[in-house]
Amino acid sequence: MKTFFSSLLTALLFLGTSAFVTSCTPGGGKKKSAATEAAPVGELQPLPTSIGTKDSYSRVDTSLPFVALTFDDGPHPKNTPRLLDILKERNVKATFYVVAPNVKRYPEIMRRIIAEGHEIGNHTVTHGNLTKMSEAAVKREFTETHDAIVAATGVAPRTMRPPYGAITTAQKAWIRRDLGYPTILWSVDPEDWKKPGSSVVTSRLVSGASPGGILLVHDIHASSIDAIPAAVDQLLARGYQFVTVTQLIAMDGKG
Ligand SMILES: [Zn+2]
Repeated sequence: MKTFFSSLLTALLFLGTSAFVTSCTPGGGKKKSAATEAAPVGELQPLPTSIGTKDSYSRVDTSLPFVALTFDDGPHPKNTPRLLDILKERNVKATFYVVAPNVKRYPEIMRRIIAEGHEIGNHTVTHGNLTKMSEAAVKREFTETHDAIVAATGVAPRTMRPPYGAITTAQKAWIRRDLGYPTILWSVDPEDWKKPGSSVVTSRLVSGASPGGILLVHDIHASSIDAIPAAVDQLLARGYQFVTVTQLIAMDGKG
């Protein structure tokens, strides 16, 4: 009996996984083979229908003390695991906007991000300026990255961030309509990539935070990671709670 049920369960899981992999790929879902080979980690999610009601968010409308901490351009082989340790110690959840080459290079770090309750967003393949690309090229940027993320983790990204925040109003609209992604920008930019020193990055993050804020940091720089423990501790001490981007969007306009 036990064998029968475990076989049935295996079959159902297999079917579920295949259906998921096929259906969660925007723009056709033709790249199925790589995804089926990867062991999905974390909870499978349905087709990424658009979340929220807007094409774009740089913050959300709430008076509650919630903020989203976001990390761009990784994962990085050393800095991202160190960051994950820091977040885990504090039980803080973040959102990672990843680029396809790093997703393919470090799938185990991608799986760790998901396993520890964080969220992943799409940050393109080439990290180019989308406003200078054709619609077909932009679509390829997001579709290829989406497929790489699903292949590595089994979880479909629900939001995207354009490199440099460069995107047109028209692009925001069709990307949301055709790919299901709202554009996620930010309300606090500590310019950590200029390496002003970790204490400067910390104080910019802390003083810039406000309810509904989205904080931008890059986890490819060691000095940026150095700023995180103090920034998180000071924001927690001020009563802030950290949520993922989709959780924050769910609070938009709700008090
Ligand atoms: Zn970036």
